Amino acid sequence: MDSFVVSARKYRPQDFSTVVGQSHITTTLKNAIRQQKLAHAFLFCGPRGVGKTTCARILAKTVNCEQLGPNGEACNTCTSCTTFNAGASFNIHELDAASNNSVDDIRELTDQVRFHPQAGKYKVYIIDEVHMLSTSAFNAFLKTLEEPPPYAIFILATTEKHKILPTILSRCQIFDFKRITDADTVAHLEDIAAKEGIHAEKGALQVIAQKSEGCMRDALSTLDKIVSFTNGSLTYASTLEHMNILDEDVFFRFLSLLQAEDLAGSLLLYDEVHRKGFDGETLLGELATFFRNLMVCQDPRTHGLLEVVESFRPRYGEVAAKTSLPWLIGAVHLLTEALQTYREARNKKLHVELLLVKLAYLSQAVEWSSDDPDTVKKKRVDGRRVIGFRSIPRLGPSLIIQDTTREKDETPSPTPPAAPVAPTPRPQPIEQSSTASAANPTTPRPDASGIGTLNKLRERILARGQAERKGPIPLSEELLQDAWERYIQQATEQNNHTIAANLRNARHVITSAHSFEIVTDTNLQHRFIEQERGGLIEHLQAYFNNRTLTYQVVLEAPAEPADPAVPPLTRKEQYQRMSEAFPLVRQLKERLGLDLE
Ligand SMILES: [Zn+2]
Repeated sequence: MDSFVVSARKYRPQDFSTVVGQSHITTTLKNAIRQQKLAHAFLFCGPRGVGKTTCARILAKTVNCEQLGPNGEACNTCTSCTTFNAGASFNIHELDAASNNSVDDIRELTDQVRFHPQAGKYKVYIIDEVHMLSTSAFNAFLKTLEEPPPYAIFILATTEKHKILPTILSRCQIFDFKRITDADTVAHLEDIAAKEGIHAEKGALQVIAQKSEGCMRDALSTLDKIVSFTNGSLTYASTLEHMNILDEDVFFRFLSLLQAEDLAGSLLLYDEVHRKGFDGETLLGELATFFRNLMVCQDPRTHGLLEVVESFRPRYGEVAAKTSLPWLIGAVHLLTEALQTYREARNKKLHVELLLVKLAYLSQAVEWSSDDPDTVKKKRVDGRRVIGFRSIPRLGPSLIIQDTTREKDETPSPTPPAAPVAPTPRPQPIEQSSTASAANPTTPRPDASGIGTLNKLRERILARGQAERKGPIPLSEELLQDAWERYIQQATEQNNHTIAANLRNARHVITSAHSFEIVTDTNLQHRFIEQERGGLIEHLQAYFNNRTLTYQVVLEAPAEPADPAVPPLTRKEQYQRMSEAFPLVRQLKERLGLDLE
């Protein structure tokens, strides 16, 4: 029986040209070897399993080759090459810094460097995971790295370049290895499958490539595993099964259920997935990737970022076109949130189910936050309510729209038009036509028959939203009058009749877009209005959404101040007049037992 050799070893590239996906590095190295301009220290950086150690070994073999090809490749036939290929060369030393990271380990290595190679031209030292060296080990190594003997080449490999000391970085020629693309991985796997006589569906290899995330070593070991399970016949289905991956079809089903707000359906589907042995975390992760893929499908510019099995591409495009981007963004957001808290959740199944509930209602949330009146209206008409919730007080303006629309849909009976508008703490100008319509006969009363009311209400609310966003409302006679009357009404409701009367008797003159004058006739009125400044200015600034709004209280001289026929009022006369205008003054005087001098 043949001894089984794993593909990762059996098909380890033997020369630069067979290294997958790193041609930018192999070409540079070949050129340097050909021109004999080789550096003495290299730093190979990049993710795991992309060929760093492989390239280092090929480099060691190539520089020692006795019959170097014109293209800069090793011959693989000379004595040196064959000893290298057999793993028996004395000119290559590998140190795994992950397990040998002490000063002593490095000293041992640097002691060896002093001896000339017995055969061949170069001694090559490969230090893997070099970032794991202790600081003192780094420092012990620095001297050798600085002045290496001419026959020594150091190749440092790391997955974490940022952990390498700058003193080391500055002494090395740095090569950044790329993550191997899925297409490169698939091509390589196809190649191996052909050589091994394995029948492999392309979809299966694509799944393997995707799941190995650019790590060829993982891709090859997965291939080996599945080949041994399936007796050399890789189908898409068997690959999914052995890799414990959910079929894409499940995600498409989830999407259509969630978009139809079919919570029950999606819970049942999750149960089905759960019973197949997929844990919640896998499902959440895969679902997030699925939505992400739909997201990149929406813009032709990001189509290249779509990482799916090729045969699924058209389906992705089709579904993405029917899915709204805000929904997808919301879904990805909810999923990442659920993934973050998954580990802490005690009841994992409930955690996933709760997420499905949120996703099932995501369309409503998305549309609530949308300003587009058509969507809002459509929602309630078409919307399917999966679970009845007890109604709770509505808060935001767009929620109010929802409420009204539903009332219209479900009960065609005439509803008081302005009823759904909850009383707001501060009067806002946009509401004026609804609440002040009685006071202002010129404003057409919203018709109570339905659509018209709704449209007007919506316009008003949207306008208010816009006003809040867009800034101050310019002063106008009409609006100022309305604001004024509201304040008077408020004062009256608070039994502040004095100020109500004084304000009612005052006039105003707009002087600019954000200032006006209050014209008063008497000193007393002037003083009363001035005393009311705090509350009045707050009310007006809120009404006009303008913090710079100001006013001045102006005392207008009496029309004929010098008229001798009207002598100045005595204190008693003043009191008389005041008590006529404000009966409360008399009450006050009597209650307190005051007397006029
Ligand atoms: Zn050779």
